Amino acid sequence: MDFSKSKELHNEALEHIVGGVNSPSRAYKGVGGGTPVYMEHAKGAYFWDVDGNKYIDYLGAYGPIITGHAHPHIAEAISYAAKNGVLYGTPTRLENKFAKILKQAIPSLEKVRFVNSGTEAVMTTVRVARAYTGRNKLIKFSGCYHGHFDSVLVEAGSGPATLGTPDSAGIPESVASDVITVPFNDLEAFKAAMERWGNQIAGVLVEPIVGNFGIVEPEAGFLQAVNTITHDAGALVIYDEVITAFRFTYGSAQQVYGIEPDMTAMGKIIGGGLPIGAYGGRKDIMEQVAPLGPAYQAGTMAGNPASMAAGIACLEVLQDVGVYEKLNDLGKRLEEGILNQASQYDIPISVNRLCGALTVYFGSGRISNYEQAEASDGDAFAEFFRLMLEQGINLAPSKFEAWFLTTEHTEADIDQTIEAAGKAFRTMAS
Ligand code: PLP
Repeated sequence: MDFSKSKELHNEALEHIVGGVNSPSRAYKGVGGGTPVYMEHAKGAYFWDVDGNKYIDYLGAYGPIITGHAHPHIAEAISYAAKNGVLYGTPTRLENKFAKILKQAIPSLEKVRFVNSGTEAVMTTVRVARAYTGRNKLIKFSGCYHGHFDSVLVEAGSGPATLGTPDSAGIPESVASDVITVPFNDLEAFKAAMERWGNQIAGVLVEPIVGNFGIVEPEAGFLQAVNTITHDAGALVIYDEVITAFRFTYGSAQQVYGIEPDMTAMGKIIGGGLPIGAYGGRKDIMEQVAPLGPAYQAGTMAGNPASMAAGIACLEVLQDVGVYEKLNDLGKRLEEGILNQASQYDIPISVNRLCGALTVYFGSGRISNYEQAEASDGDAFAEFFRLMLEQGINLAPSKFEAWFLTTEHTEADIDQTIEAAGKAFRTMAS
């Protein structure tokens, strides 16, 4: 494959844009560096790059794209919004309509608020939890990504009950010292942290199904226990459903397990590909937010007509009969095909999959926490990534990311991908 135009554009980008990219994971650092591919256009399950190469896309823009690129129903909604004025700074009907749709789909949302990104949504839930409880400390789980605001760019201390340390330059120790990070799926560690800090905890931030060290489900009873222990301590449970809302079912991960948090943050899919975030939860908690309450949150772009229209259109497509069944069937076909190819060439992999999202880990053993995901073979993944790219299969450039299927992928796309994986494994085995 020829990538010369991508290379040219990347050299230009390096002169003008810091690191050449507008979000670090796009720089291919997770697969040993090199030139990222510059895409020109996208339709359905496919990308075409600036050199004219075609790809089957499994990046899904890191999660938002579930109905395929340039879906006609969403495109029509966006173009209507464009012609009608994209930003008013006043309330609109669309915001009411969308709020009602979200509330109907996710019953724990008694009140919602729209923002512009997943980061903003999660950040505000943390602020609101602090306002509601009058406490400052936060518990989160290691390896889970919650956006790039200060409180969540914090690493674990030396044990489950120890305070965190900054995970990025520019984050004050004082902020990190309000955050405790414990391993996901480790109830004993969570209990130890709650025993030590419980009466100072404002909120426990949970990705109910992890999407950020691959797709990792909670073990049986884990989420229920987290809820009970957190509530017993007078703290709030916050679900970060930025990836999971509408990914596995029409609704959220909380419905997959039949368990409700106090607040939920969303983003990605609910914007139909345009910038969006939303948060919501129990009415008495949400009433902490301005203009009703003392917790401030605002946004010039929040609830803008274009994002509202795209999000509503996306959820309309997802309400079609059979959407999630199709995603599950395709996901199962892909998982089984890849496992089968890997075993033919004796490449040790494991696959975590739920519905139309999966992660392929190189190495043996089941992955249920970050430590195990981190121990998976990154060099093998990087080689696989490049071998797949060369065959027109676009994966996320990191061993920690998920492959996201869309309603536009076909069985033929899946079979082509399995065949490409077989060739990649054969090369890796030789
Ligand atoms: N929460 C989770 C679970 C995410 O995966 C992400 C982004 O990947 C975020 C929050 C932050 O969302 P955004 O990138 O829209 O700010």
